[in-house]
Amino acid sequence: MPIHEKSLIRPENLKTHENLVIDGVDVSGHWSTFIESRVVTDYNEALEEEIAALPGGEHIHRCWQCGSCTNSCTVHAVNPDFNPRYWIYLIRMGMESELLRDKEIMWQCVSCNKCTYACPRDVFPEGVMKAAAHWLELKGHTPKSKSTLFDDEFTAQVVQTGKIEEGRIIRNFFATTGQPLLQDWLVEMAKRVARRLPVKLGIMMGLAALVRPRTRGWGKARAAIAEYVGEQEARHRKALGLAELVEAARADAGAKPN
Ligand code: SF4
Ligand code: SF4
Repeated sequence: MPIHEKSLIRPENLKTHENLVIDGVDVSGHWSTFIESRVVTDYNEALEEEIAALPGGEHIHRCWQCGSCTNSCTVHAVNPDFNPRYWIYLIRMGMESELLRDKEIMWQCVSCNKCTYACPRDVFPEGVMKAAAHWLELKGHTPKSKSTLFDDEFTAQVVQTGKIEEGRIIRNFFATTGQPLLQDWLVEMAKRVARRLPVKLGIMMGLAALVRPRTRGWGKARAAIAEYVGEQEARHRKALGLAELVEAARADAGAKPN
C-alpha cells in the first residue's frame, strides 16, 4: 500500500491549477488538485534487514499495512504526523531519505503498546518503533535520546554490580543529561517517600548510596553478561554496516582539502 494520505504528500508535489480547462470542462480551483509524480533513486535496499536486526524489529516483514497500529496509537492521537504504519511502509520499501524526514518525532513512542495489541499480524509495532529509534542513533542521524542514556546507565549499573541503586542511577542520569539534581518534582517525591519510609529501610537506602553494594559472587555473571552485550553490539554494527560507514566518512574527510 503506497503513500495514500494527503497529509503525507510533500506540499511541493501538490499542484492546484487556478485556471484549467480540460476537454472544454473548466476544472480550475482547489478541488482539481494533482499530485506530481516523482522518481525515487536513493533506496537503501538493506533498510528492512537493518531494522529487523535490531531488538524489536524482528517481525517487521509480517506487516500488511492495515493501519490498525496508527489508528490505535496514543501519540498519533495528538500528533497526526506520528504514523507507525507509514514508517513501517517506508522501511520495507527502503525509502531511507523519506524516513529521515520524520527523525525528530520517531523517538516519541511512549511504549503504551496499544499498537501491539491492535496488530493482527504480530508485528510488534512498538518494538519496531524502538528499533527504528535505535537505528537512527546508531547511524548517527540523531543523538542518543534521554531514554537511551537512562537505559545505558541502568545497564551499566546492573552489569557492574548486579544490583540497582535508584539514587545513583538518577544522579548519574541527571549528570549525563545536564539536568539539575534538585528539581521540584524530585524534591517533593523524596519528601513524600521519606514521610512513609520505615526507618530501617531508610538507613539501608542511605548506606547503599554511600557504599556501592554488589551481588555476592557476581564476577562470573558480569563477565557472561558483558560478553553477551559485546556480541550483540558487534552483530548490530555489522548488520548496519557501521564499520564501512565510518571508513567512508574517514576517506571523505581525508579527500577534502583543509
Ligand atoms: S507503543 Fe508507541 S507506536 Fe505503539 S501505540 Fe503506543 S505510542 Fe503508538
Ligand atoms: S497493525 Fe500491524 S499489520 Fe497493521 S499496519 Fe500496523 S504493523 Fe502493519
